[in-house]
Amino acid sequence: MSYKNFSVETDADGIALVTWDMPGKSMNVFTQEVMDEIDAIVDSTVADAAVKGVVFTSGKKGSFSGGADLTMINSMFELIADAKVKSPEAAAKVVFDRVGRMTWLYRKIETCGKPWVSAINGVCMGGALELSLACHGRVVADDDKVKLALPEVKVGIFPGAGGTQRVPRLINTQDALQMMTTGQNLSPKRAKALGLVHEVAEPARLIDAAKTMIKGGLKPVQPWDEKGYKLPGGPVYSAAGANLWPPAIAILRRETFGNYPAATAILKCVYEGLLVPFETGLRIEQRYFTEVLQTTEARMMVRSLFVSLQELNKGARRPAGQAESKFSKIGVLGAGFMGAGIAYVTAAAGIPVVLLDRDQEAADKGKATIAGLCDDEVKKGRMTAAGKEDFLARVTATPDYAALAGCDMVVEAVFEDSAVKKGVTEKAEAVLGADSVFASNTSTIPISSLAKNSVRPDRFIGIHFFSPVQKMMLVEIILGKETGDAALARAIDYVRAIKKTPIVVNDTRGFYVNRCVLQYMSEAYNMLIEGVPAAMIENAAKMAGMPVGPLALNDETAVDLSQKIMKQTVKDLGPAAIDPRHIDLVDRLVEKGRLGRKAGKGFYDYPEKPAKKHLWPGLKDMYPQQDPDTVNVETLKRRFLATIALEAARVMEEGIVTDPREADVGSILAFGFAPYTGGTLSYIDGMGAKAFVAMAANLEKAYGAQFKAPKLLHDMAARGETFYQRFGAQVGKAA
Ligand code: NAD
Repeated sequence: MSYKNFSVETDADGIALVTWDMPGKSMNVFTQEVMDEIDAIVDSTVADAAVKGVVFTSGKKGSFSGGADLTMINSMFELIADAKVKSPEAAAKVVFDRVGRMTWLYRKIETCGKPWVSAINGVCMGGALELSLACHGRVVADDDKVKLALPEVKVGIFPGAGGTQRVPRLINTQDALQMMTTGQNLSPKRAKALGLVHEVAEPARLIDAAKTMIKGGLKPVQPWDEKGYKLPGGPVYSAAGANLWPPAIAILRRETFGNYPAATAILKCVYEGLLVPFETGLRIEQRYFTEVLQTTEARMMVRSLFVSLQELNKGARRPAGQAESKFSKIGVLGAGFMGAGIAYVTAAAGIPVVLLDRDQEAADKGKATIAGLCDDEVKKGRMTAAGKEDFLARVTATPDYAALAGCDMVVEAVFEDSAVKKGVTEKAEAVLGADSVFASNTSTIPISSLAKNSVRPDRFIGIHFFSPVQKMMLVEIILGKETGDAALARAIDYVRAIKKTPIVVNDTRGFYVNRCVLQYMSEAYNMLIEGVPAAMIENAAKMAGMPVGPLALNDETAVDLSQKIMKQTVKDLGPAAIDPRHIDLVDRLVEKGRLGRKAGKGFYDYPEKPAKKHLWPGLKDMYPQQDPDTVNVETLKRRFLATIALEAARVMEEGIVTDPREADVGSILAFGFAPYTGGTLSYIDGMGAKAFVAMAANLEKAYGAQFKAPKLLHDMAARGETFYQRFGAQVGKAA
């Protein structure tokens, strides 16, 4: 029998080697067709008396499989929406049957009567690891690049093909919960130490080792199907269980504030599943998976954090007809805080960099910063000493503009001063080839005005990084009025080369991300002024799903920077542009030297380590305090999410961001906008424009004009439209 995605070869010992190698794909993924073929392989190997056992592996170099094709799950959401029109019960039934397909296929493998061994040759994720867990033996190639994980929780779902039942029956419950609720990667050695795999083998010996297991008499029965089986972590109702479950539930609450239904479902599946026989546990998991798939959180997270993210990373917004750029040399002007970071991520992508500053000393300082970042990697075991030397050899620190000759692109990160930027643009362009692109990392100066300094404004663009550059995954690409497609294509190619996610934004004050972040902080100022206790402000923001409280964030970005931005805005747009009470608030902090973390004091105090930072008690004396019992935390949470989402809606209305995928993904990657919502616009889509507008109107009445919904939202509410319907035409199109 022949298959589209698999080859099956049976050797003289009767061992069938099943090799999964999907044509035309760089990575194996589960599709309906793949599952049908595995089903047929189980039937035919069982029926063939000559087959004694099966070794299941992948034909892709370095990867076993990425797991389920989440676009398949995405299409399931459409199915749910259609079925819901009939009745919620009908929808639940459709999903229940669909999600059971993988579960019972895997159960069929483990009860087929012949031994199956999974030979894991590379990255093995999600459904692929779950399939391996259903095999009677698991051998993994001994290679640091091999990672095993059940990462589903990161996109709002959970291991729903037996993972929540097999993992805690193979390893202790605490490790099982940790692995599944964080989605962490395991190295082969760690997986072996935990007891998740049986053997780690030399990559070249992988298949041999798997076959040897079968020849050695591997029993085709899972431990949980044997009489006398005992749970490795002990039963739920035991001393060990009593020690584990109460803190496990508390930790989940602390980490998620109940915002992630999938994480909660993992705990429920494990707890309830370990109380019952294995197959009943599988059915419990199937029910919770059905429930989670029908949540708004799962739908939005899969869309933004998997589908859209992947599309943007593949260059969805790249203009058509532009040849792909290969980078042989990049120039970075300014070797300061941002410049050194930009040079570091560029060199990390294997691209030679010229790092230029005013004099040799300043340039060398930037290179020393890069060496420090390499040292951190060496300490963590992610870089060797020789690797560091090679890395640094790619960075040329110099004050000499002649060294920029031949650069495919230059990224400018000198002082935020138009005159300084003009000077370096002119000097650099004098040596750059006609084809080169000049990109500015300015955070506040309009790209169109900086482009006036350029002799070829069509090849002038903004590439806005966030700090710390090596950690932040988002880059805003800013289009000036005259920026051409060639420059945009090159900028996107560069951002992809350094493995970050690009979003394309039209030129405006604050671009997209900073406009949203400023609203977040501004609402925190309002709350402080109203007398909401600072701790409640910070906690409510985190309970709403923000990773960092607005006051802590303001300390990181610096209070004097907020002051500078406010004053500049008033200068440019007039006094009505900023609430004078906000200026008074930051003025008072700056006067006291409370500039933020860099000054050791801001909204927080930063005592010597190991003491932890804590909110500055003096905040209480700045404004008359409300009684905390009278403050509604739910309202505080709503205010934070709504004020940011409204700004994102305005940004769409103004045509600054044109593609909802970019607004959503950008908001999560840049400032961690409550990921369970799927991002700023999905938050609105998730509850529906009508409900959102009504909520905003209530907030406007109680708290002010910042909650006034733009006309766009009223329009969408009237038509019952979502952002993805209204701006759907942009999806898949270039800027
Ligand atoms: P920085 O002060 O740390 O670094 C600026 C560097 O430019 C210094 O090393 C300085 O010596 C060098 N420089 C100044 N004039 C020069 C000249 N004429 N020729 C060559 N080099 C010169 O500043 P930074 O925080 O790295 O910011 C740089 C740019 O990045 C600014 O435009 C800023 O708005 C933008 N930006 C900053 C952040 C941030 O978080 N700091 C974030 C995004 C964008």
